Amino acid sequence: MGKITGFLEIDRATPGSRPIEERLRHYNEFSVPLDEAGLADQGARCMDCGIPYCHQGCPVNNIIPDWNDLVYRRQWRAALDVLHSTNNFPEFTGRICPAPCEAACTLNITDEPVAIKSIECAIVDRGWEEGWIEPQIAEHSSGKKVAIVGSGPAGLAAAQQLARAGHDVTLFEKNDRIGGLMRYGIPDFKMEKQTIDRRMAQMEAEGVTFRPNSHIGVDVPVKELMDGFDAVVLSGGSEKPRDLPVSGRELDGVHFAMDFLRQQNRRVAGDSIAESEALSAQGKHVIVIGGGDTGSDCIGTSNRQGALSVTQLEILSAPPEREDKALTWPNWPQKMRTSSSQEEGCVREFSVVTKSFTGADGRLDALNAIRVGWEKDADGRMAMKEIAGSEFELKADLVLLAMGFVHPIHEGLLKDIGVDLDGRGNVAADTNAYATSAGKVFAAGDMRRGQSLVVWAIREGRQCARAVDEFLMGSSDLPR
Ligand SMILES: Cc1cc2nc3c(=O)[nH]c(=O)nc-3n(C[C@H](O)[C@H](O)[C@H](O)COP(=O)(O)OP(=O)(O)OC[C@H]3O[C@@H](n4cnc5c(N)ncnc54)[C@H](O)[C@@H]3O)c2cc1C
Ligand code: SF4
Repeated sequence: MGKITGFLEIDRATPGSRPIEERLRHYNEFSVPLDEAGLADQGARCMDCGIPYCHQGCPVNNIIPDWNDLVYRRQWRAALDVLHSTNNFPEFTGRICPAPCEAACTLNITDEPVAIKSIECAIVDRGWEEGWIEPQIAEHSSGKKVAIVGSGPAGLAAAQQLARAGHDVTLFEKNDRIGGLMRYGIPDFKMEKQTIDRRMAQMEAEGVTFRPNSHIGVDVPVKELMDGFDAVVLSGGSEKPRDLPVSGRELDGVHFAMDFLRQQNRRVAGDSIAESEALSAQGKHVIVIGGGDTGSDCIGTSNRQGALSVTQLEILSAPPEREDKALTWPNWPQKMRTSSSQEEGCVREFSVVTKSFTGADGRLDALNAIRVGWEKDADGRMAMKEIAGSEFELKADLVLLAMGFVHPIHEGLLKDIGVDLDGRGNVAADTNAYATSAGKVFAAGDMRRGQSLVVWAIREGRQCARAVDEFLMGSSDLPR
C-alpha cells in the first residue's frame, strides 16, 4: 500500500487543461500533466483495498493498486511492467478511457477516487520518454500465419499478442492509415496520432505486417485470407451508423458525424479534402443529434472550425447531477457529465426529438423538434411521450447525426465468409473461444460486442489472441 494515511491527508488532483480560448485555436491535446511529486501523492492515496473494486471495474483488469504503490515509491519502470502486463496500449486508455475504474474505486464513495487514469497515462508516457518501451520479439517462430481484418484497438491488441507468441501476423485495413476509430473518429485534441504511429513501429519490429488500403470482401477477396492463413480474426468494428429517416433527411447539410470527423482528422494529418466534398462548421449554426462521445467530438471539432453556435440534442431526459451511491457504486452510474468539448461551448437540450428538417433549394436551414416526457408504462418500462404544444424550430446550417452505430457492415466481408450473426446483427462468438460459426475464423471488439469502448476492444483483442493461439498450438501462455 502507498502511504497508509495518504487518502486522509491528500486531496484528489487530476491534470489541468489549457485555457479554452487557447485550445480552440488548434487540434492538439491540451492537458497539463501533474508533476512527478504530484503523481506520487496521488498514488499515495490508494488504500490497497482488500477487494480492489477498481481492478474489477477496469475491463482489462489493470492491476491498479500495485502500480499506484510503485508510483508512490517512484519505481516507474516497475510500474510500467505491471501496467503492460494487462494492457498493450495504456497510452490510449490513459487518454480516452471514461475510467470505469475510478467509478468503482472505494474512495469514489465520497466522490474522491484515486486519479487512476492520470497515473496510468503518466506511467506509460514516462516509459516512452525514457526509451523503456522496446519491441518484444518472439524467440521462436510457430510457422503459423494469422490474418487480422481491421486495425482498431481490438485488431492491434490481437496482432501484438499473436506476434509475441511467434505467429506470422498480417493486419489488413481498408483505410489508408492504421488505427480504426482512434485514427479517423476520435479527434487529435483527445488523442494525437503519433501515439498510434510509435506503437505501429514497435509492432512492425515485432514482426507484424500492416496492409492498409486492403478492403477485405471488396478489393481483396475473402478467399485469399481463407486459403492463405491458418486463422482469421475479424475486428472490423461496428460501422453502420444509426440514421434518422425523417422528412428533409436528404437536404444538403445533414450528415453522419463520422463523415465530418473523418475529414477533420485527415486535414490534421496533412491530407487535402476536395472542395466539393468538404464539410465545415465555419460560420454555421450547428446541431449535433446524440449525446455520447461521438456527439462531444463533433462539438469540439465544430468549435475549432469556427461555428457560430453549437446545440446538442439528446432524446433522453437529463440525468441526475449526482448519482445515488448506495444504489450504483461500484458500477458505472448514470449522472450528468460534461465533456471537455461541451465545456468549450454548446447548448445542451435534453428530452428532445427531431421531427423534420426543412430548407430551401435543397439546402438545410432549420430543424423542427418537439419536447418529450419519459414515464414508466404498465410493464414498468420507460416510455416516451411527446408533449403537446412543445414544438419548436432551431436555425440549422449543419446537422450532425451522432446517434450511435447499429451493427457491423454485413455486405462484403461478413456475407462472403458466411458467419452467423447474433440477434443484434453483430458477429456471433462467445468470450471464451471467440470462435465464429465459420471454421478458423474468430471475432473480437465492436464487430462482436457492438459499439463499445477502446478498453473493451483491447480486452477482447487480447483474449481473442489467446483463443487463437490455443486453436493453433493446442495450448497458450498468453494471458487472458
Ligand atoms: C467519434 C467516436 C469517438 C469515440 N470516443 C471514444 C472515447 O473517447 N473513448 C473510448 O473508449 N471509446 C470511444 N469510442 C469508441 C471506440 O472508438 C470503439 O469502441 C473502438 O475503437 C472499437 O475498436 P475496434 O477495434 O473493435 O473497431 P474500430 O476502431 O472501429 O476499427 C475497425 C477497423 O476495421 C476496419 N475494417 C472494417 N471492415 C473492414 C474490411 N472489410 N476490410 C478491412 N478493414 C476493415 C475499419 O476501417 C476500421 O479501421 C468512440 C467512437 C467514435 C465513433
Ligand atoms: S484502462 Fe480505463 S478502466 Fe482500466 S485503469 Fe485505465 S482508465 Fe481505468
